[in-house]
Amino acid sequence: MSIASRVPATGTTPELLKAAGLPTLAELHALDPKQQPGYADPAKVDQVVDSLRRLPPLVFAGECDELRGQLAKVAAGEAFILQGGDCAETFDGVTATNIQGKLRTLLSMAVVLTYAAQVPVVKIGRLAGQYAKPRSSDVETRDGVSLPAYRGDAVNGFAFTPESRTPDPDRLLGVYNASAATLNLARGFVTGGFADIRTMHTWNSTFVNQYGVRASGAGQRYEQLAAEIERALAFMVAAGVDPEKMRTVDFYSSHEALILEYEHALTRIDSRTQRPYDTSGHFIWIGERTRQLDGAHVELFRHLRNPIGVKLGPTTTADTALELADRLDPDHEPGRITFITRMGAGRIRDLLPEVVEKVTASGRQVAWICDPMHGNTFEAANGYKTRAFSDVIDELNGFFDVHDELGTWPGGVHVELTGDDVTECVGGADELVEADLVNRYETLCDPRLNRNQSLELAFLVAERLTD
Ligand code: PEP
Ligand code: MN
Repeated sequence: MSIASRVPATGTTPELLKAAGLPTLAELHALDPKQQPGYADPAKVDQVVDSLRRLPPLVFAGECDELRGQLAKVAAGEAFILQGGDCAETFDGVTATNIQGKLRTLLSMAVVLTYAAQVPVVKIGRLAGQYAKPRSSDVETRDGVSLPAYRGDAVNGFAFTPESRTPDPDRLLGVYNASAATLNLARGFVTGGFADIRTMHTWNSTFVNQYGVRASGAGQRYEQLAAEIERALAFMVAAGVDPEKMRTVDFYSSHEALILEYEHALTRIDSRTQRPYDTSGHFIWIGERTRQLDGAHVELFRHLRNPIGVKLGPTTTADTALELADRLDPDHEPGRITFITRMGAGRIRDLLPEVVEKVTASGRQVAWICDPMHGNTFEAANGYKTRAFSDVIDELNGFFDVHDELGTWPGGVHVELTGDDVTECVGGADELVEADLVNRYETLCDPRLNRNQSLELAFLVAERLTD
């Protein structure tokens, strides 16, 4: 046998993607995609895309199928989604401490929710790929100087200089590497014993010790809950339940699939099914600014087999939601679509009912989850972009109220959070005020809930789930 015949098949090629029905990048660009970088050197972009196509997938098609199965349970009212992480991940933020902090926060919240809801909580990190940002303006002006807006580390640099703000296609390889490193550590944490539910008290106490912060109200509540659950688990083990089952959890990655070059280049044909999967993350979503029915993102997503999300903002009509569902999920496949609503605290009670009603009346079962962050952003008097914890909770309560009234299942929450003790959102049990924002404001994009605020939110959602 010659060496050549032993070399494995070359894997997915653009030709195979086309044969599987995926539109080409040129076809997508012909649809005038929104929120794209505007690269100066197309030859360099082609080179980067070619390199990305040769790299191994970040996630496996089988994992995406498994997640779709879990999301089908959410759509059927038998499970709840917790999706959270940074607004924008950064290359500098890829550190063990940072990733561990986010996981710890998500795992703590998930336990609180599971205990309350008594249904499985599907844990999805907004991480390992969340590097590209849609912006409301193409330019940013400071002291009379205008430069391209920062579009996330996937596109350009945050530093306010012409060099840094110029879109650089090589950054897409940086996204791949940063995502691979993050996912590797996350997989290690969730399978290696860190996520063992019997150690849940350490997820919280480490935080308290490390920062010398007195346990917050939510922190103390968490400690009590941990003690209660640990006693119950010890009982279960004594009664013969296999403790191995408590050692690991399922955890999935997600991001807004914004930059067409990156997402297309990471799309692979699954050898089992011969269908295309975007292997850049398990769950990918279309943002509020790129969900045009005949736009490039919908056209790409239509052909991908991943479970997908679509953000629905306050301008969404019930007909638009239905048309999006028809376009993206013509087969009415359970778990295929998750609608992430972000209407704003003041409007959700007026706007959401009709959307949910009409989609439900069509016979579809989709997962509905609430993003209580993006409809509630404002600029503080001192110039910081912030959100009030009370608005976030008000939108969540509106979400639960609407679903309660309609008899539909409030399937989950989508939040921007961090494991750190940042001061980016005002309010919460620590009563952060606008003057506190300056203390530790680290996000490069939208303000995130800090760890205490995240835990507090989990307890408040838990209350709604046990109502
Ligand atoms: C985001 O999730 O960070 C975001 C930009 O959301 P939206 O598309 O809902 O505005
Ligand atoms: Mn955001």
